[in-house]
Amino acid sequence: MKKLIFTLFLFLSLYAFGQHQDKVDFIKAKVYLGFLPKEKKIKGGVIYRFHVLQNVDSVFFDAKNMDFSKVELDGEKIDFTATEKTISITQKFKAGESHKLMIQYIAKPKQTVYFIGWDDELEGNEQIWTQGQGKYTSHWLPSFDDMEEKVEFDLTIEADKKYQVIANGKLLLKTDNDEEDAIWLFDMKKPMSSYLLAFAIGIYQKQILTSESGITIENYYYPNDSLKVEPTYRNTKEIFDFLENEIGVPYPWQDYKQVPVHDFLYAGMENTSATFFSDAYVIDSTSFIDRNYVNINAHELAHQWFGNLVTEKNSEHHWLHEGFATYYAYLAEKEIFGDDYFYWKLFDTAKTLSDISEKGEGQSLLNPKASSLTFYEKGAWALAILREEIGDSAFKTGIKAYLDKYQFKNVTVTDFINEMEEVSNQDLDIFRRNWLEGDLFLMEDVKEYL
Ligand SMILES: [Zn+2]
Repeated sequence: MKKLIFTLFLFLSLYAFGQHQDKVDFIKAKVYLGFLPKEKKIKGGVIYRFHVLQNVDSVFFDAKNMDFSKVELDGEKIDFTATEKTISITQKFKAGESHKLMIQYIAKPKQTVYFIGWDDELEGNEQIWTQGQGKYTSHWLPSFDDMEEKVEFDLTIEADKKYQVIANGKLLLKTDNDEEDAIWLFDMKKPMSSYLLAFAIGIYQKQILTSESGITIENYYYPNDSLKVEPTYRNTKEIFDFLENEIGVPYPWQDYKQVPVHDFLYAGMENTSATFFSDAYVIDSTSFIDRNYVNINAHELAHQWFGNLVTEKNSEHHWLHEGFATYYAYLAEKEIFGDDYFYWKLFDTAKTLSDISEKGEGQSLLNPKASSLTFYEKGAWALAILREEIGDSAFKTGIKAYLDKYQFKNVTVTDFINEMEEVSNQDLDIFRRNWLEGDLFLMEDVKEYL
C-alpha cells in the first residue's frame, strides 16, 4: 500500500487481530456477489472447502454485521452462531476429514466496500470498489482477518452490463445475455490472505500490454481519458520486466491489472493481481513532471512478491512488505530515470530520517506501531545497506531463496535474515541490531553508501 499524503507520524493501523485456527486448513473458496448499490448492500454466498488437521469442536469466520440466510455443511442445513463480528459452527470435526461449508448472507459494509456516485444525478460515474488492508475483507465476505490463513479465492460477480468488473485472478468467463446482468467468473490458481481480495466495478476501457515473460497487463481508464493512458501508465512494461528480472522470481500470478478508482483512501493498493490506485494519478503529459504514477506503479507491483507471495505473520514484520516495495520501486526508478535521480531520492530520505533520529524520535523497524516513514523509507535504506554489506550476488541469491522457500506462506523478519545469512555466509547480528532493532538512523553507514 502507499499513502497518498506522506505523513510522518501517521500510524499504521494494520494490526492483525485475527485469531489463527491452526487445527483447520481452509483450502478454497468460491464466492458469489451481487449488489444493491442504492442501499449499499451486498448479497453474497461463499462455499469454503477445508481439511481438519486436528480434532476440533468448532470453526469460525470473521464476518462483520451480516445477516445469514442459509448455512449448510456438506449439503445439510446446520445451526450456527453469529455475533456482530463472527459466524461460527460448532461440531465435532475429526482430524483427516474434509468438508464443504456454504454460507449465504447479506452485508451492509460500513467500511471496506465503497459505493461511489450512486446518489447523484450524474450518469456513468458510478463505482464500487474495495480496500482490504487495514479495513478487513470480513465486512463484505465471511473470511479471515488473520493474515496467516491463505485461501484460493475465486470470485464470481454479477453486475449491470454497462459496467466493467475487475477482480483478483484471471477472467474465465463473462456471460452476455440480453436484458440480464452480466456474470463475471474470475479464477485464482494460488492462495492469498483475505486482506488482498478485491473487486472494482465501474465504466472503464483498458489498454493491454504483455510483459517479456508473457504476462498480460491490463491498464484501465475512464472512457474520456484515452489521451491520459500513455502518461499515466508510462514505463509500465519496463517496470514489470525490470522487477521480474531484478527479483529473479517470475511474477507469481496469472495476470496483472491496474485500476484507477475515485475517492481512494491511499495512493495505491496491491490487491493480488489487481492494483487499485487513486484516479488523482490519472494525468496528462504536461502534469507528468509534477505528479505521476511511476513510483506507485513500481511499488504496488513489487508487493505482488513482497506482501502477496510472501506475507508477514503480523505487523511486527511489516518491513518485509513496505521496506521491500519502497526499495524495489527506487531500483525501478533508477532504471528509468537514472542514477542521479535514485541517489538524490535516497539522500533526501536519509536527511529526513537523520533529522528525526537526532531529535530522539527514531523508531525501530520491528516496532509494529512505527510510522510509515520508518517502514517505507528507513525500511528501504535497511535493504540498501544490507545489499552493500553482503554484495549484489549474495543479495539477489538470498532474495530468490527467500521467495522460493516461503512462497504462498507467511514470514517473519528472522526467516528473511536467516536466508540472507545462509547465502552470504555472514553473521548479520550487527546489521540486525543497528538497522532493524535500533531506533537510530545510522548516518555513518549511509555516508559510506552514498
Ligand atoms: Zn506499500
